[in-house]
Amino acid sequence: MAGDLLEYDIAVIGGGAAGVAAALEAGAAGAKVALLEQADDIGGTAAISGGGCCMAGTPLQESKGIHDTPDIAFEDWVKCGQGAADEQWARYYLDHSLHDLYFWMESYGVKWQELQQNEGNSVPRWHRPANNGLGLMTALINGMKSQGATQVFTTTVVDKLLVRDGRVCGVRAMRAGAITEIRSKAVIVASGGFNSNLEMVLQVRPELKPYKIMAGSGPGATGSGHRLLRELGAYFTHMGEMAFYVYATPDYRDPQASRGLVFRGISGYIWVNQQGSRFHDESRSGAPAATPALLQQSPPHAWAIVDSQMTGAMQIADPYYRDGDNILRDRIKELLERSPFIRCAQTLEELARKIEVDVPAFLGEVEQYNQAVESGLAREPRFGKPLKGCKKFDTPPYRAIQLFPLARKNFGGVKTDIRCRVFNQHFELIPGLYAAGEVAGMAGGHINGKAGLEGTMIGPSFFSGRVAGGWAAHEADFGPGFIGKAREV
Ligand SMILES: Cc1cc2nc3c(=O)[nH]c(=O)nc-3n(C[C@H](O)[C@H](O)[C@H](O)COP(=O)(O)OP(=O)(O)OC[C@H]3O[C@@H](n4cnc5c(N)ncnc54)[C@H](O)[C@@H]3O)c2cc1C
Repeated sequence: MAGDLLEYDIAVIGGGAAGVAAALEAGAAGAKVALLEQADDIGGTAAISGGGCCMAGTPLQESKGIHDTPDIAFEDWVKCGQGAADEQWARYYLDHSLHDLYFWMESYGVKWQELQQNEGNSVPRWHRPANNGLGLMTALINGMKSQGATQVFTTTVVDKLLVRDGRVCGVRAMRAGAITEIRSKAVIVASGGFNSNLEMVLQVRPELKPYKIMAGSGPGATGSGHRLLRELGAYFTHMGEMAFYVYATPDYRDPQASRGLVFRGISGYIWVNQQGSRFHDESRSGAPAATPALLQQSPPHAWAIVDSQMTGAMQIADPYYRDGDNILRDRIKELLERSPFIRCAQTLEELARKIEVDVPAFLGEVEQYNQAVESGLAREPRFGKPLKGCKKFDTPPYRAIQLFPLARKNFGGVKTDIRCRVFNQHFELIPGLYAAGEVAGMAGGHINGKAGLEGTMIGPSFFSGRVAGGWAAHEADFGPGFIGKAREV
């Protein structure tokens, strides 16, 4: 069915972190922007995320007496990426994280509330904003509305990039059953990752095909933007690199049980494999260390063992289980009682039988762990897990929560230059085409490498969105391009 033909300076595909940041930046330069979002609302995965950003040398860090600089952060970053990080992009991001992310977000009303030190970071630098990712996105979306330069089209699926005389000159989208063509001087693809599309995940990680893997990104992270880029011959890199989370269990409300729920806040739990043995220091639960440990098990799944006291502080990283900062305990109870992937028993022996592991091996593990706690050791002897704040398994009912690897964040994507212009397979730039955010491995193609420090997903997505918006506007004859402000050293 024929539809509209519209004209804008810039078309942005995707209304998540990178897309909204790009629209704001292009709008600030004076460009007229169309922001196209397939969902009924903008916000993307970013709005359901933790919103934690990795930033270095901030006032929040200073207020807590933490000395951090882009140099220190860069060293941690490169080590964590195991030689595969794009060092130019990582350096660019970290040097700008204070002014062009921390203060920039504050200028829209964001409050940075709390710091965490995640695995691989030599100091606490994961900054949590008030109201998590929703807080960040609400602030920016309000800012975009008051700026007035961007027209938002929701329920609008872009299905083709338009090309004329070798230049990308707009997009074709489906809206209310009709085709809309949006002509523009440049297009920014900010369509997110593909970790909610298991077929695509397994295509790039074929060795995982025999096993149960769960999808764990936002509903829009299906890789549709990757397809649009691929049709124009774009170059993709590091596609098999992604963060699989370990502490996730299938969502029993999903009929296919292919979506996973990440849970946190259970201190002192242990994980056992299908043989009933522990295999890892559970306090190192981040993807860099825990994922390889889980993937080495046969089969690559595990059970998190908890007693009734341990579940008291449990949190589920899914909007159904929280209302803003408020945890909905009734819903967590509902999950514990109804999920077929969670077994419950009054004794540890009965639990071992219910999860079909080797009973003596399992009971031996728990006994050894309990003894370590009881004798007041600082660390348990098997894997060196710190025992501070841990308790014995002694309060029935006991539960076993089944864990499968959960695909969460893409570390690879389309390759771009430092202005977010997309390369083709001959390493030539595709005129008029930009990419930012997770579709571009968060920034540039692979800013993290093989693993990330945490907060290195959404932070670089906002930043690369801004860079893309600034330079796309410049190409459309608005503004000087993205300059920003690097931290003085
Ligand atoms: C539960 C969870 C928690 C997380 N917590 C953190 C965290 O604390 N810190 C961190 O650094 N990272 C975190 N992440 C990762 C982070 O949220 C993402 O990497 C980030 O949101 C990526 O931003 P983006 O703009 O590229 O994509 P998104 O935010 O996903 O936005 C992309 C948008 O594009 C739309 N879209 C896709 N294709 C089309 C199309 N063809 N037409 C129109 N629209 C389209 C999608 O619907 C979506 O709205 C988390 C992820 C999850 C799932």
